[in-house]
Amino acid sequence: VQACLTAIEGAGALNAFVHHTPELAMEQAEAADARLKAGDAPAMCGLPIGIKDLFCTKGVPSQAGSRILEGFIPEYESTVSQQLLDAGAVTLGKLNMDEFAMGSSNETSVYGNAVNPWRRGNDDAALTPGGSSGGSAAAVAADLCLAATGTDTGGSIRQPAAFTGITGIKPTYGRCSRWGVVAFASSLDQAGPMTKNVRDAAIMLEAMCGHDAKDSTSVDLAVPNFEAALTGDMRGKKIGIPREYRMDGMSAEIDALWQNGIAMMKDAGAEIVDISLPHTKYALPAYYVIAPAEASSNLARYDGVRYGHRAKLAPGDGITEMYERTRAEGFGHEVQRRVMVGTYVLSAGFYDAYYNRARKVRTLIKRDFEDAFAQGIDCILTPATPSAAFGLGEMTDADPVAMYLNDVFTVTVNLAGLPGISVPAGQDGQGLPLGLQLIGRPWEEADLLSSAYALE
Ligand code: GLN
Repeated sequence: VQACLTAIEGAGALNAFVHHTPELAMEQAEAADARLKAGDAPAMCGLPIGIKDLFCTKGVPSQAGSRILEGFIPEYESTVSQQLLDAGAVTLGKLNMDEFAMGSSNETSVYGNAVNPWRRGNDDAALTPGGSSGGSAAAVAADLCLAATGTDTGGSIRQPAAFTGITGIKPTYGRCSRWGVVAFASSLDQAGPMTKNVRDAAIMLEAMCGHDAKDSTSVDLAVPNFEAALTGDMRGKKIGIPREYRMDGMSAEIDALWQNGIAMMKDAGAEIVDISLPHTKYALPAYYVIAPAEASSNLARYDGVRYGHRAKLAPGDGITEMYERTRAEGFGHEVQRRVMVGTYVLSAGFYDAYYNRARKVRTLIKRDFEDAFAQGIDCILTPATPSAAFGLGEMTDADPVAMYLNDVFTVTVNLAGLPGISVPAGQDGQGLPLGLQLIGRPWEEADLLSSAYALE
């Protein structure tokens, strides 16, 4: 814990930790020492981790990367972070992220972006750690903590994991409680671990999962021993390779990465099967209707009364001016764009044309996966991202769709509620890490982790 605290002090330039809590960490570390001495050490006893700023943490500022939550210090701990504390983990502080988890580069954060510890060859230009869980990814990759929590609505665990050479798993929707996690798009959001390898992911995921009466969408299912399931033995397993994921303009490097992953799976004994997921091309547009729709509703609560920031009012201003000014000052550009898109697609005149149609597409995407699994496919192998980490400032606010394309391989998994994992599996021509994604059957995280282990 001390080594991590020292590393955090020296890594200000990465802007990964946005609040760090050394006294709290040392208290927790001493309690962990006492448990170890008493022979009562739980699974994560004394292990130093970071928590994404989207999780409410008792007594510790929790801003979701937004100005509108300035000064908000929760009175309660999110279920997932509480479960990690119960498992003995030591929390070092809060990690940078895109505002309300909307983004793929960390550049929408009120704290300014986190920085990827990797560089392109000898080039000094700073790269994005990805987003939205970019602070978590940068912190784990730079050894500021052993592991971190992330959340994934459309790829926010898997894309930053791929960009920084670490492992990240988004479990099946309902595996982890969302209670105390600031809501972005409630039907898509899931928490998950971001770690240095698959074994750590298995150990940490087990601590994070489980039924929670405080989240009606959390499932009452036994949590398996994920670590014990790690064999990496692929004999008798079928890995699906979806042809629609071979996108136009896919780079030769990403294609080579994918082929290499297929070869590794064959070597481990798996049977490789070509499959079709015909509605893949509609996933991104459906996601960028559904996620903003849910966000516009979830973000209605930030009204200048209940939490955080409130704009200064002039004499004669009423409640409408307070709402308007507070939200104009408190939300950044990307969040405002999503609220406007979301409100539009939910409006009476456009609800059927956009929101309802996107929901139908979502059902078709889910059925594509169900059909593949009905053919006996165990896991689906795809690239995690269309490229390696890109330069900070390279994609601008003027072209949001270019940024949205980062999520082309990951959003399908959230729309279908499936578990997905990104594992580091190679490098591009300039030495930057690249990730492969494995998509599993619902509730089969144990199997998914074991297959990912075969790629390590
Ligand atoms: N990049 C996607 C978005 O901006 C996904 C974000 C996420 O998974 N939280 O919506």
